[in-house]
Formats: sequence, structure tokens, C-alpha cells
Amino acid sequence: MIHYRPSKIYIDPIVQDSPITQNILKTFSDVPCEYTSEKPSLLSELDRYSDPLLEGKKHLWVTQNKGKLVKKCGASTSALQNLVCCNYFILDFSFNCHFECVYCFLQEYTNLPLMVVYANIEEMLSALQGLLDTLSSSNIRIGTGEMADSLALDEITGFSRHLIPFFASQKRAFLELKTKSDRIQNLLNSDPKGQTVVAWSLNPPSYIQKYDFKTASFEERLEAAKECEKAGYKIAFHLDPLIAEPTWKKDYEELVEQLFSRFNPVWVSLGALRFNANLRSIAQKRFPNTPLKAGEFISAPDGKKRYFRQFREEIYQTVYGTIAKYNRQTPTYLCMENGVVWQNSMGCVPSSEQALEKHIVSAVR
Ligand code: SF4
Repeated sequence: MIHYRPSKIYIDPIVQDSPITQNILKTFSDVPCEYTSEKPSLLSELDRYSDPLLEGKKHLWVTQNKGKLVKKCGASTSALQNLVCCNYFILDFSFNCHFECVYCFLQEYTNLPLMVVYANIEEMLSALQGLLDTLSSSNIRIGTGEMADSLALDEITGFSRHLIPFFASQKRAFLELKTKSDRIQNLLNSDPKGQTVVAWSLNPPSYIQKYDFKTASFEERLEAAKECEKAGYKIAFHLDPLIAEPTWKKDYEELVEQLFSRFNPVWVSLGALRFNANLRSIAQKRFPNTPLKAGEFISAPDGKKRYFRQFREEIYQTVYGTIAKYNRQTPTYLCMENGVVWQNSMGCVPSSEQALEKHIVSAVR
């Protein structure tokens, strides 16, 4: 895994005393730093480079998140009809990622190609408490890995040192840290008390080499997962995106076999490769040797390119069938799919988002 090091840091004075900011400054005491309450305007400067996105990531902006800090996952608001939602919540703690996954949707956010860390951690914890106060469920899942990898910068920011104790102090919600990194040192020094799940996004080793640049390798991810398991964390896996390379069937069967011979995950999610139409041309320019073309795609109503429905169902049936061979009890769910695909792939459709949420956390308890 490639470690992150910015060439310049911008600090919004409003968060200069935050422990997150202080951690960053301590780690990068030799990196030039500018205090400014304005959003760094670097677009014209970055345009000079052949890969402005890569250059943008060298600039780290530490600021406050003035928007909604905890929100519901996009599945509940997607333009796609009848998506089966799992009632997932997202804490918006960072934006952007120094890893370079060919299929990453963040590449389309060209209006802000910086690494952004939101340092108003106290407000985040208040927002989390506010959410818990309004919900009666005991199966709440809240993750940080939507607009950034949950752990890629954790040793620099120290977010997990605040979030894990917060979740450990209550019994109704689970924190999910979703990652492709092996940066787990902070986790090993915290006691999750059963309330934090560390989830690795995985693909077969050769796919990781081909599509996930700068991330931890397959083996590094699994070694980190083993360390976390020993330290008392629950482990989950996201097989997402499932990519239709020519040998996908055999590759995913072997992947599932490897995972289940070494772990008893508390949940597994499956999601077939999907991306907005213009991502393909961005990725093609940035990664000309790895075109996003494995398999045939259709344009879905939400504007995304997806594999044909019948083919997605075949992939899900194969992977889910293999999981069931090893442990039929493992809660397994589809990400961003509709009821028809659920029925044809998993043999059922969850009766409600609350029912699916309850099923997913059943093995954590
Ligand atoms: S790890 Fe996730 S957020 Fe980071 S580049 Fe890959 S897909 Fe994007």
C-alpha cells in the first residue's frame, strides 16, 4: 500500500484546535501549511497537469463539514426504481482518496479534486447521538466509507480513536469501517466492545493488481483483517465491484473459498460493477492500460452503466451459491439492486428495509 503524504496542507482556522487537525499537523510537521478560511482554489493551477486529479490529491484541505453530517445511503434516494434498501447511514467525515481504483466514482468530482478532511469531530459525535436519539431500532449501521476509504488516512487523522469509543459506549448501533487499506494500528489500541465491524472490499488478487492501484494487496488486507479479528473486531467483506473478467466464475469461487477458510464474516455484500457513463472516458485517460470494459453494459434508468440484468443475476447466483456452500447462515445482501434481481439471485426479497437491516446485523450479535 502506498502511504499518503501531501505536498501542501490548508487549514481552516475554525478547526485548527480539533484533535484531528492537531494529529495531521503533528504527522506532517515538515509539510508547508497555509491557514485560510477560503476553499483553496487550485483548479487553474491543476489544469496544467496531464492528470489534474492526481495532482489535486497532493493538496490536503482540513476544514469543517457544514452540511448534513449523517445521512442515509444513496440507495434510498436513487433514481432507480424499487431498489432494495438496507437502511444504512453514512457519516460524512472526509472526501476523496489517495488510492487509485480504476472504477472509483470519485474521479467524476472534478470540481473539488483535493483531499478533504472534515475535522469537526465534536459536531460529528453530536450528530451521531442526535440520530440515535431519533431512531428506535437496535440494528442501526453507520459507516464512513462512502466518499473516502474509512481507514486509508486513519493513522494521520485519528478518526477511529473517537468513533470506536463512541460506538462502544452504546448498544443500538454498529460502526462499519470499510476499507482497502491495512492501516489498522489505531484499531488495535481501542476496545470495540462488539460495536465496530471492519469490512474489507475485496476482489481476486489478480483483479486487485489490475484495478486497485496504491491499495493494500489481497494478502495485506486479509492479514490486517486477521489482526483486527484477534483484537475483538467483527469482520465483514464487500465483494464489490464484482467484475466480469473472462475467468470470473472460477476466480470468485476461489475467492469465497479463501475467505471462508480463514474467516467467519458477520456479513458479505455483493455488487456488480456499475459506473456513470462519463467515468469510462475519465478512467480511460487516466489508466489507458486498464480500460473499464470487462463484460457488456446497458444504460440503466439512473444513468449508470450496468451489466445486463440476467448476467448480474448469474454472477450473484454463482457467488451467493458458493458462500452458501461454506456457511448458509452468513448474512449476504445485494447492494443497489432491485426486488426482481433479489428474487432471481437470492430466492427472496426482504419484506422491508428494517427486516433487511435486522438480518444483516444478526450475526454480529
Ligand atoms: S478505495 Fe474506494 S474511495 Fe479509494 S479510490 Fe478505491 S474505490 Fe475510490
